[in-house]
Amino acid sequence: MREVYLDHSATSPIRPEAFQALQEAALRDFGNPSSLHRKGVDAERIISEAREVVAGALGGEPDEVVFTSGATESNNMAIKGVARALSRYGNHIITTRIEHPSVFETCKQLEEEGFQVTYLHVKQDGMIDLDELREAIIPGTILVSIMHVNNETGIVQPVVQVGTLLKQMREKITFHVDAVQSFCKLPVLPREWGIDLVSVSSHKIGGPKGVGALFIKKGTKIAPIILGGGQERGLRSGTENVPGIAGFGAAVKAAMAGREREASELDALRRRLIEKASAIKGARLVGAVEGCAPHIVNLSFPGLRGELLLHYLEERGVYVSTGSACSSRSRALSRTLTAMGLTSDEAVGSIRISLGWNTTAEDIDYACEALAACVAKLAALVRR
Ligand code: PMP
Repeated sequence: MREVYLDHSATSPIRPEAFQALQEAALRDFGNPSSLHRKGVDAERIISEAREVVAGALGGEPDEVVFTSGATESNNMAIKGVARALSRYGNHIITTRIEHPSVFETCKQLEEEGFQVTYLHVKQDGMIDLDELREAIIPGTILVSIMHVNNETGIVQPVVQVGTLLKQMREKITFHVDAVQSFCKLPVLPREWGIDLVSVSSHKIGGPKGVGALFIKKGTKIAPIILGGGQERGLRSGTENVPGIAGFGAAVKAAMAGREREASELDALRRRLIEKASAIKGARLVGAVEGCAPHIVNLSFPGLRGELLLHYLEERGVYVSTGSACSSRSRALSRTLTAMGLTSDEAVGSIRISLGWNTTAEDIDYACEALAACVAKLAALVRR
């Protein structure tokens, strides 16, 4: 049976370049980067090279990149680290209702510790309202955390405008952006855009799992969360994941070398998918055709169950997800979709189809045919 993997927002298969770099580093450069002998120096060199690549992709300097175990850790580090470092100046944090759980749950925990958190609404189009943000800022606001591309819908938040708005404030407010779904797909330029911290992840761009980074602009006040041997300039102790970091660097290099071409090819495939899927009876596009990320399509079939649709598609070798993979373990309705005003019927009937570096036009055509057949089959069952 043909297999079509369309769940790249959950994770992408590893790129050959990344796998090769990972394998070489694991076998050859096995030293501890902290060791003073040659084996340590070789391993340290691997990390430095990857750091340069990741920093370059974000328009920053190598010493502004801290490697982590993934974006969940980067988000925890950014939010808790800034909250701890700046608690003397204020205890107010602003974020949105549509963040990934690694931001949302971290903010919830900080609330229990006495911080005050404002969760911005989103409009029906899934975007935050800049006026609401402006009004939410108070003298005690220390941190704003807003995602760039939403992982369930592909909707892009106006982080450039947020950066400009925050720059105009008299008090300096630290600005963190979760750029997991935009990194290596759209430009992400923290220094130009007034962003202090950016979280990225390796396995969403064709690198290995369990590695990511936090970009920390020079001068940003942040306290370490993980203490120990003082690796990563004291901000993230623990022996570095050298093979993972090597693979991450190679994936970024490959993705950035073809970024504009890959992004425009992805966008063409996404439009092809939207056009074909929109012709299916009962389909509704959540999000927009224009202005969205090139690789995520969220479709709702009100009256059907997205989860059942997922399993029907799986029988035909097509892999998609319902809402976000990270929250699919809980049965609760998607926070993002309900924040956009979708009814529970619409949210339950939603599936996310996400494309990546190895998706082809044939994959899209096959998936759309399968989707049409599965929707018809499921709709007939529901009608009975
Ligand atoms: N933020 C967003 C927007 C994501 O999509 C994800 C992955 N689902 C994460 C954070 C967490 O990344 P990781 O898997 O590297 O911990």
